[in-house]
Amino acid sequence: MQDRKGPEVLGTVLIADGLATNRILLRARLAPMQYRVIQADTTSEAEAALRGGPVSLVLVAADLPGGGADAVARVIRSMPLARRPGLIVLTADADPGLRRHHLRQGADDVLPRRIDDLILQARIRSLIRTRLSEDDSHLGEATSRALGFADPPAGFAGRAQVALICADAATAACWRSRLGARVAATLRSHGFADTLGKVAHAPLPDVFVIGLTGAQGRAGLRLLADLRARPATREAPVIALLDRPDGALAAEALDLGASDLMLGGFDAEELALRLAAQIASKRDRDRLRATMETGLRAAVTDPMTGLYNRRYALPHLAEAVARTRRAGAPLAVMLADLDHFKRVNDLYGHAAGDAVLSEAARRLTATVGAAGLVARVGGEEFLIVLPDTDEGLAAEIGERLRLAVGLHPVRPGGDGVPMRVTVSIGVVVIRPLPGTDMVAGGIDAQALVAMADRALYRAKGAGRNTVNAVQGAA
Ligand code: GH3
Ligand code: MG
Ligand code: MG
Repeated sequence: MQDRKGPEVLGTVLIADGLATNRILLRARLAPMQYRVIQADTTSEAEAALRGGPVSLVLVAADLPGGGADAVARVIRSMPLARRPGLIVLTADADPGLRRHHLRQGADDVLPRRIDDLILQARIRSLIRTRLSEDDSHLGEATSRALGFADPPAGFAGRAQVALICADAATAACWRSRLGARVAATLRSHGFADTLGKVAHAPLPDVFVIGLTGAQGRAGLRLLADLRARPATREAPVIALLDRPDGALAAEALDLGASDLMLGGFDAEELALRLAAQIASKRDRDRLRATMETGLRAAVTDPMTGLYNRRYALPHLAEAVARTRRAGAPLAVMLADLDHFKRVNDLYGHAAGDAVLSEAARRLTATVGAAGLVARVGGEEFLIVLPDTDEGLAAEIGERLRLAVGLHPVRPGGDGVPMRVTVSIGVVVIRPLPGTDMVAGGIDAQALVAMADRALYRAKGAGRNTVNAVQGAA
């Protein structure tokens, strides 16, 4: 965290190289970028730096004294996912075999030391950007776990889908057959002529490979931008494949959001390695997101009835009040409380009580349908929020709710003793004052609930199994 204090510093880059001249040159090449740079000249120094504080990215010389880039890759692999920096291995030349070796060890990329500055900088930017967004997901996951909601959903990941796209469909098909069994994924191929709808059809690809090759390379950039603009594919990893060292094109692809770059043209083995890494990281992010969503949902729902809870209902009501002000439409709020519910527990036991409660919740929800929200705000108390509902309609719905619960007896478990349960309902309707943006009486969500509660109290006093309405107008 310490490195993100100043607004200018976007992350920390560790340069690990045995030669001081190399470190100085590299440092100078990074100078235009806003990163804090730290240095190491052996693997043990690099390890100490990695353990010492958050590092966003490591640039390591393949021949770093003390074990080479492999030793650094090993240290990184041993770190918890949330703290792992990106890893770029710098080599003396662009040897494909060496590149594959380092990719297998977990490097995000392997670049010759002489690589174009534009490409080097864009690659660093893109890797750090990825780290930052992963940081946010991990933070969300930590929060979810702290709240106690984070059981990762199991087994939802089917076979990975990969879309191979380049200017002409025949080349893409050729890539597909050459990749073949090297990747554990379903491969499909497209030409640029295919519409985005076709390229991104279901099942949605987990990873896209876009060929920026030949004269039509720039058309591939357009496709990349289109994928980034669509919510469904905005976060899908894209590997851009170039067949010539065009620094401007490569940098543009990375800045448009390509997650990875292959500079040496199509190489089945290398692409397979890069695909495996992108698929794994996509899976990791999907899992984090699912965990987050499960956690958030769990935080606002009541496990017994599946209804929203008070934590969700009150802000929802506040929003409904605000919307009533803006739209000038009336709003009805109800509190429904089961009658003599203690008796149900006393006579039939708590489990039967639970079953009755769930059935009552189901009946209320089915009756309200899409017209509004039903939430469980207390033990046997429900809040119902009905936008665009005036006094007449509210009375009608209130009566329907009363009958839905009380007309037919409830049989816990489907075949238990039939029990008659009734409900009392307090109703309040508010409407905006004409010509102002004020709701009558300047009411807020909490005051509304209090009014509904008073109406409910009167319904109880009137003998229960009753609907009682009060006016919200001052
Ligand atoms: P009233 O008509 O005045 O509302 O009478 P009541 O008995 O329903 O009112 P009171 O508020 O005294 O009691 C509510 C009872 O609801 C108390 C509690 O045992 C029961 N209850 C609350 N939550 C649950 C639950 O989740 N499961 C079960 N089985 N009972 C619950
Ligand atoms: Mg009650
Ligand atoms: Mg009660």
